Amino acid sequence: MGSNGRRRGSLTCSTLAPATSVAVCARCPPVPSVAPVTGSRPVAWDAQGAVLFDLDGVLTPTAEVHMAAWARMFGDLFAGLDTTRPDLRGADTSAYTDADYFAHVDGKPRYQGVADLLAARGIRLPQGSPEDPPEALTVCGLGNRKNVAFTAILEREGVRPYPGSVALLDHLRGLGVPVAVVSSSANAPAVLAAAGLAERFDTVVDGRVAADLGLAGKPQPDTFLHAATACGCAPERAVVVEDAVSGVRAGAAGGFGLVVGVDRGAGADALRAAGADLVVADLGELA
Ligand SMILES: [Mg+2]
Repeated sequence: MGSNGRRRGSLTCSTLAPATSVAVCARCPPVPSVAPVTGSRPVAWDAQGAVLFDLDGVLTPTAEVHMAAWARMFGDLFAGLDTTRPDLRGADTSAYTDADYFAHVDGKPRYQGVADLLAARGIRLPQGSPEDPPEALTVCGLGNRKNVAFTAILEREGVRPYPGSVALLDHLRGLGVPVAVVSSSANAPAVLAAAGLAERFDTVVDGRVAADLGLAGKPQPDTFLHAATACGCAPERAVVVEDAVSGVRAGAAGGFGLVVGVDRGAGADALRAAGADLVVADLGELA
């Protein structure tokens, strides 16, 4: 392995097709950018043993559903909070906005996001426990209340997968390449069902599976390694597809054959710095 934990040598650019305008392989000298070549693909998908997809932001635009669920939960909370209570006197219950989300909630574990936003509003509530019901006026209860809102929005409105991602899944299915979902979220099965993708994946390693098996979460590679094993594939023959820096780091740390970064906002440079061999704006570029 190299100093950063990646297996090197046997897996060089054989995983990348020769003609490409978007491929950046960290193991090879820079390749001059060339115009797209009609009929060619940057990745030789038929040579891959399995493709392991993150879910939120890779297959589905679920961030929007999460944002709507946070807005529902905090909006209702601030509208109904009794600020005459001594412990809530002086609390800022002005309308919840997307700026609150980006400043205090985005990217954090659910309960931490609740705690940080409440702190910013001068609202002190007990931490409670993950077993708290969604009605409980505790940090964990409010986090669970947000999850109820998330599930309700999913069931009511569904979520449309990224068309480019579906195109790649179709292509892989045609080639017979095994695919898996590796997500930190415990909601992964519900999201897959709402997106109409559930039947496409025999292997789903989500937050619940990781907890049951004691697997460390991203940026540790354990959940991806477990998925590769479940697909009957050695890591060096598997591809990791991620949109988050922490997920790309997990792919880089696991010695996978190829790590594809999907830039939905993290930034191509950040994804490459985290270990992505190849960064695209949409998976349709690889289908
Ligand atoms: Mg993601």
